[in-house]
Amino acid sequence: MSDDERTCGRPTRAGTPCRVRLSESEDACGMHAPSTASHAVGRLFEVDGEQVVSVGRYAYRWRGNPPLAIGDRVLLPENWLSRKKDGPGHWVGTITELGTTYTGTLGHVVDRAPKS
Ligand SMILES: [Zn+2]
Repeated sequence: MSDDERTCGRPTRAGTPCRVRLSESEDACGMHAPSTASHAVGRLFEVDGEQVVSVGRYAYRWRGNPPLAIGDRVLLPENWLSRKKDGPGHWVGTITELGTTYTGTLGHVVDRAPKS
């Protein structure tokens, strides 16, 4: 029988390939599958239907369309640091990550930054 037993094979923390068996339709086990769920362990990708993105150490929500991507430049609300550095008003940041591990209250991305 060509009933090959596929295993996940993703590297585990121990450095050995993951041996979880896969069903026909699976490409990786539950732990290693690329996350389609918005609540991957410890990482938040969506809040109330709004996208969550990281700009350096900060995290923001984005309610606009289309969704933001890594490298997109956005206008962000003033914070104490931007005020000190760039003066009052919005500041321009670049999306460094999608989702965040930050668990506090998130501010909103003001808008996409105008193309320079
Ligand atoms: Zn696995």
